[in-house]
Amino acid sequence: MKRILCPKCDNYITFDETKYSEGQSLVFVCEHCKKQFSIRIGKAKLKATRKEEVLDEQANSQDCGSVVVVENVFGYKQVLPLHEGDNVIGRRNKGTDVDVSIETADPSMDRRHCIINVKRNKQGALVYTLRDNQSVTGTFLMNEILGDKDRVRIEEGAIITLGATTLILRAAGDVEP
Ligand SMILES: [Zn+2]
Repeated sequence: MKRILCPKCDNYITFDETKYSEGQSLVFVCEHCKKQFSIRIGKAKLKATRKEEVLDEQANSQDCGSVVVVENVFGYKQVLPLHEGDNVIGRRNKGTDVDVSIETADPSMDRRHCIINVKRNKQGALVYTLRDNQSVTGTFLMNEILGDKDRVRIEEGAIITLGATTLILRAAGDVEP
């Protein structure tokens, strides 16, 4: 499978390139913005889908850990790195700059939905704190909605829900034996 960016709204469209031969023109209709456009196989810049990428949930365990996005009807599984300080998390969108940019068509996820703060304590261990970012549908931790002023400490394996999408915290240093 390959994917191509919609030139209008910057969402990915996935297709099976093995069904077509080189030089053939394909017409796509973006399901997001309904724009119609065409590409020529072999000429267009195609990116491999996330499915073909290596998705190692422990990939960033030596650094600040990762957020794992669970695959659903709106998007593929993704492993996205965290960094120290505030990590703004939201739906990937052209022109919106966030730290953890989730590639999804989930309409109930805000572009800047929630924030995970990563901080080192005096012992050098990383501390993760989750807060909502005034999102429309709210941020849920283990199925409990966070209040506006809530700052909740989260640990390895914490399950966070943004709209219809589930995220799992893979904290640094928690490599499975
Ligand atoms: Zn589009």
